[in-house]
Amino acid sequence: MIKLHDTYFKPFISEGEIDNAVRKMASDIANELQDEVPVFVGIMNGSFMFTSDFVKVYPKPCEVTFIKLASYEGVKSSEDIKRLIGLTQDLTGRTVVILEDIIDSGKTLEEVHRIFENENVKKLIIATLFYKPEAYKKDFKLHYIGIEIPNKFIVGYGLDYDGLGRDIPEVYQIKNTQHMTNLVLFGPPGAGKGTQAEFLKEKYNLVHISTGDVFRYNIKNETALGLLAKSYMDKGELVPDQVTIDMLNAEVEKNADAQGFIFDGFPRTNEQAKALDELMVSKDSSINAMIALEVQDDVLVNRLLERGKTSGRVDDADETIIRNRIKEYYSKTAILKDYYSNQDKYFGVDGIGSIDDITVRLSKVIDAL
Ligand code: AMP
Repeated sequence: MIKLHDTYFKPFISEGEIDNAVRKMASDIANELQDEVPVFVGIMNGSFMFTSDFVKVYPKPCEVTFIKLASYEGVKSSEDIKRLIGLTQDLTGRTVVILEDIIDSGKTLEEVHRIFENENVKKLIIATLFYKPEAYKKDFKLHYIGIEIPNKFIVGYGLDYDGLGRDIPEVYQIKNTQHMTNLVLFGPPGAGKGTQAEFLKEKYNLVHISTGDVFRYNIKNETALGLLAKSYMDKGELVPDQVTIDMLNAEVEKNADAQGFIFDGFPRTNEQAKALDELMVSKDSSINAMIALEVQDDVLVNRLLERGKTSGRVDDADETIIRNRIKEYYSKTAILKDYYSNQDKYFGVDGIGSIDDITVRLSKVIDAL
């Protein structure tokens, strides 16, 4: 990932892919033109790198020149009309191949056609390295296209973002700017994560994923995943990482349009935290905060024994199992506090008090993110 000005871009098209596309265009055009010596016209500034690489691999003699379309300065009414800089050569009777770095709406191409109408060229061929079919609004024929791309802003290989990025040898694509809020709700069993998640998901329009709940749902429905998870859960042990990570990825994928997630009970190990970071990167996003509800052990044990009377959860009914889960939490999962602290993303919140009070405390943290 790279940052230009304040915007992030992710790798999109590699040098190798660009090279292949450029070579294919050069060979296709040479096949069409045979022994005719064309004039390649690069449109500045964006196509300087493409034009340079293109003519290097063009297998036959050719001429190369550059033109630039510049806006008239200070003339508001003719904003759309461009003036031409650089065309000094007589192109009468010549075959001209326009080399464009990218064609999106087709506005520049329209200008090019307008300018070349008066040049009495034999033939005007349009070749563009990148093409955005979803953005193209004109009818001019595009004779040669290198790579079709979606209608998202790209930078590199001659293309700039507000002046920067032209020098990069590969192409980057703008990262999704849709802002997601992704929270990890943390805390020992019985700290009130589930209760609080219910309020927070409404308030912030987030999707709540509790790995414990998903496992219990699978157990209830006697799925293969449920049967596997049950043997660990009944003893208060963690379900193996890969099983849990795969399941979580699937749950996130089910909610592709979410504005963010509350992860409850996940991650519980370093491996899971790393997998979650990777998953967030693939969504052009990140974890914003781990918010931990802090509650003493004895309060937890009492709360869970109370819940066990009505919840029917095997792992809530027995004090030894409860204590084992709390022990697991501290021995295996408290390292996550370090993981997120190192990224300045750890926020501890006092988990003792009324439900409302605790929601207010959590909201304060989230609102300040
Ligand atoms: P919870 O409802 O979060 O207390 O989880 C109940 C049980 O589900 C845990 O004791 C584990 O056996 C299992 N579990 C839930 N989340 C995870 C996870 N992230 N990794 C491994 N096991 C999990």
